[in-house]
Amino acid sequence: MAHGGSLGELRAANLALVIAIIEQAGSLSRADLMRRTGLSRSTVSSLVVQLIEQGVLVERLDRGTPYKGRSGRPPILLELATLTGVVAGIDVGHRHVRVALARPDSTIVLERSVILDVDDSPRESMDRVATLLDELLAESGHQREDVRGSGLGIPGPVDSDGRMTSGILPTWRGLRPADELAERTGLVARVHNDAHLGARGELAYGAARGHRDVIYVKASTGVGAGLIVDGHLVTGTTGIAGELGHVQVDVNGVMCRCGSRGCLETEVSGPKLVALLQPAYDERLTVPRVLELAQAGDAGATRALNDFGRRIGRVLANIANMLNPEQVVVGGGFGSAPALQAGVRDALDRYAQPATAAAITVLGGALGERAEVMGAIAVALDPPDAPRSGRQVSRSPVAG
Ligand SMILES: [Zn+2]
Repeated sequence: MAHGGSLGELRAANLALVIAIIEQAGSLSRADLMRRTGLSRSTVSSLVVQLIEQGVLVERLDRGTPYKGRSGRPPILLELATLTGVVAGIDVGHRHVRVALARPDSTIVLERSVILDVDDSPRESMDRVATLLDELLAESGHQREDVRGSGLGIPGPVDSDGRMTSGILPTWRGLRPADELAERTGLVARVHNDAHLGARGELAYGAARGHRDVIYVKASTGVGAGLIVDGHLVTGTTGIAGELGHVQVDVNGVMCRCGSRGCLETEVSGPKLVALLQPAYDERLTVPRVLELAQAGDAGATRALNDFGRRIGRVLANIANMLNPEQVVVGGGFGSAPALQAGVRDALDRYAQPATAAAITVLGGALGERAEVMGAIAVALDPPDAPRSGRQVSRSPVAG
């Protein structure tokens, strides 16, 4: 009697066979597949249904030529979905939404962003995402049906069920961003928090390309991290790994919006940077202005960024001791500042064990503010069996 697992393995082998044959041929009908695989009509039909549902195969809009000696309608041809259409990358930040369309080889077709108050208006933000998406599709001559996959980044923790957790974004709590997007656009998106997508973006297309053990830091309105271990993003058991900004740095510190107290983010963030410097300046400061000042050699701005880098680096030193990474990639709104990166470097050298610190290269992200949208493109292009939300699929341990 066949073991249940072997039936599953047989089906997996048949699915892989169908994909390999179509990949080689370009496009084939179901009848072609029966002939080439030797499988029955019902088996081929069932395999094709599954592969279409998974987004691996699509039916071509044009049909093939009728078979020799036969009349009737020409057959429907199947091809790999990855050869046609576009994918959508969507980055919802605290203060902006950005949408990009990319070809299956990840080259960008069109990209656009708008400034708006995302934190306090989740539904309006998702409305705006839908409008932007439709604009880009229309301008590039595509329909919604041409979108083969999508990735969606959200500026707060998203659990493995795709739901917004904790009080970090109070007006978003309990929402499922994928549902909000699907309602408006019909797209089925893979949802991650923004720092996770920033890490995926830098890993796939940016500063971390070709590296396997990387800590990506997003220093922005908040402070988050994406951990790449052995080439894979670590999302954790409920999808919310990498909450660097909520590592406690002061047991007696102020209450944090996450419900804990004395978190790194209560001391280090874009708004805190501005608030720290403002009393010493006549002009009204913003994070971009502070970066300009630092670049022009302003001592106060440089000092503040350096101090912030040291505080982030102090926490990173502990994480680095655990993970032994080869890179710390610093991105986000003020992560690009050399003074901040120098602070991170100093703290790693001071507080990580020497061999760990020596193995680390600290560098700025290569994608800047586009890291998240490129990460969204990367997850949209992940194979169909990759997890839809943050959770990584693991195999049960074998008994005995
Ligand atoms: Zn916190």
